[in-house]
Amino acid sequence: MFNVNAYGATSATDPLAPLTIERRDLGPHDVHIDIKYCGVCHSDIHDVRGEWGPTEYPLVPGHEIAGVVSAVGSDVSKHAVGDRVGVGCMVDSCRECDNCQAGNEQYCLPGNTPTYGGTDRDGTITQGGYATDVIVNEDFVVRIPEGLALDVAAPLLCAGITTYSPLRHWGAGPGKRIAIVGLGGLGHMAVKIAKALGAEVTVLSQSLRKKDDGLRLGADDYRATSDRQTFKDLAGRFDLIINTVSAEVNVNHFLRLLRTDGTLVNVGAPAEPLPVQAFSLILQRKSFAGSLIGGIRETQEMLDFCAEHGIGADIEVIAADQINEAWERVLKSDVRYRFVIDVSTLG
Ligand code: NAP
Ligand code: ZN
Ligand code: ZN
Repeated sequence: MFNVNAYGATSATDPLAPLTIERRDLGPHDVHIDIKYCGVCHSDIHDVRGEWGPTEYPLVPGHEIAGVVSAVGSDVSKHAVGDRVGVGCMVDSCRECDNCQAGNEQYCLPGNTPTYGGTDRDGTITQGGYATDVIVNEDFVVRIPEGLALDVAAPLLCAGITTYSPLRHWGAGPGKRIAIVGLGGLGHMAVKIAKALGAEVTVLSQSLRKKDDGLRLGADDYRATSDRQTFKDLAGRFDLIINTVSAEVNVNHFLRLLRTDGTLVNVGAPAEPLPVQAFSLILQRKSFAGSLIGGIRETQEMLDFCAEHGIGADIEVIAADQINEAWERVLKSDVRYRFVIDVSTLG
């Protein structure tokens, strides 16, 4: 075991603070990553604040990790010292169930091991990327292609894959009309990726405050959900809607915007239920679905796709001592469009 500097929570309510945490020694299949940047995902806040259920403290969040390999275990074949790599929301899975075998480790039937707050094989609780170093099994480490800078690549490890996976699964592409609800970290990646896939993209945001940004990111249309006319104008229009909102919304209003056979995919993960009226689905054979991040193979495919299309996140780089302020701004939807921690400021 060795100690590393980190920034984390000691309770659900206290501000985050500098911490020292232990990492395991390098095993034969492990990669030691010198973390350079870590994105701030809204899930970090939900989780640390106990909104999804009880959490153990101290807890170091962070699952949008980008860094450089500083050492590899004796049996590692996939990565070498000096490689630019990333780690997303999971660091292990059973590897044996049907979903793991199919490359959908995120849906591992006994459960994947989350990057933080999960129970590792050795019984310890995993700690995330708001830290200087991390040890991860090589199979859960992906390559960051040359064309992508590490700071703008970090958010791809969660926000990127969480939107890429449902866009691909539900066939976003030329001739498809897609709406993205919420222009935050996930939403802005969804706009860029859906556009690069060739779809027609509409942003549905609470207001028109970020309209210029939305159009610059690639949206063809941008509407305010605070304006009732939006729901009249766009009724029956979309093949696919991706809801990225971190809070409760009335999904019935959005289901009305789908055409026959359309699908509303929820990736936003508020603790509150999202009640659906049966008739919102029945009348035009509509679907209400969910989606969780993406598998490791698909995460690599997404990174390669983003590099090929020149897609990184739009970021605001912060120092470690600005994390609490950044969290407050995320909670106020005041983020353009991902905060990324410069880990060198952790000392
Ligand atoms: P974020 O940056 O805070 O973006 C969320 C956006 O939702 C905001 O920018 C805002 O967009 C909109 N919003 C916030 N509060 C709202 C409200 N009360 N009513 C209507 N709209 C509201 O968060 P994020 O990091 O993108 O994460 C979004 C959600 O996805 C979180 O719940 C997170 O836990 C979840 N998540 C899920 C997965 C998965 O695998 N399914 C992975 C990562 C994250 P506008 O200002 O444009 O309205
Ligand atoms: Zn996340
Ligand atoms: Zn499994």
